Amino acid sequence: MLGVPGQINLDYAATAPCLKAAADAVTELLPWYGSVHRGAGALSQRCTLAYERARQTVGDFVGARADDYVIFTRNTTDALNLLAAALPEGTTVVTFAGEHHANLLPWHRAVRLPVPDSAGAAVRYLAAALAQVRRDSPDSPVLVAVTGASNVTGELWPVRELAVIARRFGARVAVDAAQLAPHTPIDLTELDVDYLALSGHKLYAPFGAGALIGRGDWLDAAEPYLAGGGATSGVGDATHDVRWNTGPARHEAGTPNLLGAVALAAVCATLEAADRDALHRREQLLLARLRAGLSTIPGVAELRTFEPAAPRIGVVSFAVQGRDSAEVAGYLAREHGIGVRDGLFCAHPLARRLLREAADRNRWTAAPGTALRASIGLGTTEADIDALITALAAL
Ligand code: PMP
Repeated sequence: MLGVPGQINLDYAATAPCLKAAADAVTELLPWYGSVHRGAGALSQRCTLAYERARQTVGDFVGARADDYVIFTRNTTDALNLLAAALPEGTTVVTFAGEHHANLLPWHRAVRLPVPDSAGAAVRYLAAALAQVRRDSPDSPVLVAVTGASNVTGELWPVRELAVIARRFGARVAVDAAQLAPHTPIDLTELDVDYLALSGHKLYAPFGAGALIGRGDWLDAAEPYLAGGGATSGVGDATHDVRWNTGPARHEAGTPNLLGAVALAAVCATLEAADRDALHRREQLLLARLRAGLSTIPGVAELRTFEPAAPRIGVVSFAVQGRDSAEVAGYLAREHGIGVRDGLFCAHPLARRLLREAADRNRWTAAPGTALRASIGLGTTEADIDALITALAAL
């Protein structure tokens, strides 16, 4: 793990530090720097091969089916916008108000379900909504877009159960795996979902590379996400005489982010080879320590959607009674070298609602306007958690 000594990073959910494997993969390829898909020379051939291998590795990492496409994008936001632009005409998208903006705003014709208070309620809401959508438009395409793990509460969403309901109503499923992928092995085939979006920079890889993985038919039928070189197999003299490629290339016009893709693949391969059960157990112990520590501090309230014992990844948001969260985050950084996130975490409807609920649960007279978030990952230690708790308690 790359990092800076003396800094306590509890902001993995925003951007995780880079794994050494990513840096090594980039260093190894740099002398071979050459064009991708555009040259006959040895450098270009090697770069093209590295890019296509990266595609395969990322697909394998999430259990993609043999005929799924892996399209490299800039990040999760880009991946979900690509999918939104590729939906067949008249597609209804069903999502929840608990989503990150990246999975809330790109959808044009969307039904937004209320934030459920349990995984079971999420499944029931979806079943009722899909029954209604099918009554209104029996044959139109429907996509259910849901997060795998919340960036606000860390809670895991019941993706497999939601997919079962979606299938019953002939709907497809897209999973926002930005937070899930760094913490939990994913098997798209076993989950029986159609699309998955992730970001390299949350997965211990550098900024600028993410992926949309999933079924090719809608993607091949859609207009290219970007128009330009690489997306076409031929362009005639007349203005509209263009033959667009099918496959991932259709949506990847322009010279791709080779180093980003290769670094992302190197991280995927490293995680794949790791004992992820052991990593999970370690993270859960740290998470329990963090939540227990926060619960001992008067005036600190955790945000949650589901019941306290619901399964979650190492992300905890909390409010501090009577304190401005930006002020608290500034104090932690200045006085203790601790980095956390503050604000509404690009999930404004959800975060506002959870702040209100947390204030009500704790009988605070007013709900704070914003919250703090501590998030943990592969480099986090017990000492990091204890430092945060001690600093908050001192405040
Ligand atoms: N979805 C979730 C659940 C996220 O946490 C984030 C990043 N905070 C995104 C989507 C968007 O990711 P990116 O900024 O890398 O596009």
